[in-house]
Amino acid sequence: MIDRLVLSDAEWRRRLSPEAYRVLRQRGTEPPFSGCFIGTHEPGRYVCAGCGNPLFRSGEKFESGTGWPSFTQPFSPQALAYEEDRSHGMRRVEVRCARCDGHLGHVFPDGPPPTGQRFCMNSAALRHVPEGEESVLAGP
Ligand code: FE
Repeated sequence: MIDRLVLSDAEWRRRLSPEAYRVLRQRGTEPPFSGCFIGTHEPGRYVCAGCGNPLFRSGEKFESGTGWPSFTQPFSPQALAYEEDRSHGMRRVEVRCARCDGHLGHVFPDGPPPTGQRFCMNSAALRHVPEGEESVLAGP
């Protein structure tokens, strides 16, 4: 079971950059091709920008052409939480961090093998931890 991180809105505002706050805590979406993780392939892992929870492995990142960093599967089945999202006249599956409940992006069933899934993420919701470095979980 994951150790949940629950903070007040004021605390999130204090800790996060304005862009990370807008994405993670206000379900924002960064403009396509604007994020810092477009076309990056450094080995390591991607963790939640809010709480440090490991979310994806660099080896499972792929170029979707959509303008957002895309992954074929989560770091672990427990890493992410899912919610139906009917906003903007669409029916999508929202992806959230299972530890801090931050909004990360959406998942679509049009990804490459082996999973057929495309986790479409916001760069602002992610932090890259290079291979060999430990990811540090944020505390209260
Ligand atoms: Fe998180």
